[in-house]
Amino acid sequence: MAGYRVIVVGLGGLGSAALYRLASELGSGVLGIEQFGLGHGRGASQDHSRIIRLAQHQAQYAALAAPAYKAWDEVEGESGQQILTRTGGLVIEDRVARRDTATGTRNIEGYTAMFDRFGVGYELLDADELVSRWPQFRPGGDEQALYQPESGIIDAARANAVHIALARAHGAEIRADTPVRAVRPDGDGVAVVTDGGTLRADRVVVAGDAWSNQVLAETGTTLPLTVLQEQVTYYSTPHLAEFAPSRFPVFMWHGRHNFYGFPVYGEVATKLGQHMGGHETTAQDRGFEPDPVRRERYAGFVSEHIPRFGGPELYSKTCLYTVPPDQNFVLDTLPEHPQITVAIGAGHAFKFAALIGRLLTDLALDRAPSYPIDAFTLTRPALTDPAFPRSFHV
Ligand SMILES: Cc1cc2nc3c(=O)[nH]c(=O)nc-3n(C[C@H](O)[C@H](O)[C@H](O)COP(=O)(O)OP(=O)(O)OC[C@H]3O[C@@H](n4cnc5c(N)ncnc54)[C@H](O)[C@@H]3O)c2cc1C
Repeated sequence: MAGYRVIVVGLGGLGSAALYRLASELGSGVLGIEQFGLGHGRGASQDHSRIIRLAQHQAQYAALAAPAYKAWDEVEGESGQQILTRTGGLVIEDRVARRDTATGTRNIEGYTAMFDRFGVGYELLDADELVSRWPQFRPGGDEQALYQPESGIIDAARANAVHIALARAHGAEIRADTPVRAVRPDGDGVAVVTDGGTLRADRVVVAGDAWSNQVLAETGTTLPLTVLQEQVTYYSTPHLAEFAPSRFPVFMWHGRHNFYGFPVYGEVATKLGQHMGGHETTAQDRGFEPDPVRRERYAGFVSEHIPRFGGPELYSKTCLYTVPPDQNFVLDTLPEHPQITVAIGAGHAFKFAALIGRLLTDLALDRAPSYPIDAFTLTRPALTDPAFPRSFHV
């Protein structure tokens, strides 16, 4: 039975980043295992685009935002591949619509408070100023907008493939189409059970997102995770130039629903999604058929607020969020079995994936994390107190 230094279970956005960082430190002795084919579309990480931004309304994420950009720079530098496209980014807040739905600090004040605290530059715009800068938008009039030039697009599918290629270049072994049936603490190490036999490693990183509890079943750990089936739609707008990345920013529109959108990227099409708009499901029960209600809702938003962004639908696709009750990441080792590290992205981790790869490497190699991750422990009340209320509605 070949002994590995570290085995990474799950090669989505977070697992592939961890595999690269581990291999770049350890060389051989590192194995990555994925149950499906590399680049499959059944999880959370396979699409052309994810929003990256410095705009964070909570300190635990704001502290990681700039280091995340640096981590992507390192990946781009070593691979010679562009992964991040800066387009500028808008947070547009429909104060009227939000009056009934607004919770906590997820608002323009929350973002600017963090910008001020972390010394990040930004611009505040009212609805008229928004339209004069980006006439593509058609606000109702009560909106306020926040612009930050560093925001942009992470090419998720490309990032995963680059992380995998770099990991290979550093000597990592990769097994795709190999479901891990169980992860078992085994003395100071870990046994990893596959159909082809049981492997042994000194350390294991579990980055299984929606499948995490299945993978962890034999460690005695079960996490209170909600899996949501999210959905995005690509529109074949005929107005390509108006929505080119150089002329149209990524945006988040906080109103009755929280929409987010992208310029033409990846496909010859714009893309729209709704944050936390999905229905509850499981990794096994999730469907691939887009929800017609959300299709309608997206089309309604587009025709009302960005009419030329729309066009014939190219396609809609579904994808999974895996969310703890407090919507915070999980980045920690199992208290009972510190040789096992767990990562869960809570539906908003891709922008941090390159940095999370580094942090998971710190945890797996028993050293202090290079950036503060106390907010993401496994021992926090949201994960240990069964009565802890979910901070979101499904
Ligand atoms: C529609 C949508 C939009 C999003 N937009 C953004 C955004 O704009 N910005 C942002 O920062 N984040 C965004 N996110 C969140 C982000 O994409 C996720 O947080 C991130 O991709 C999670 O990565 P992961 O590697 O943990 O999950 P996954 O990619 O799901 O990886 C888990 C992997 O583990 C594998 N696995 C599971 N069980 C086993 C097993 N037993 N054996 C072997 N392999 C196994 C799975 O097959 C899978 O490949 C979005 C997510 C969605 C769904």
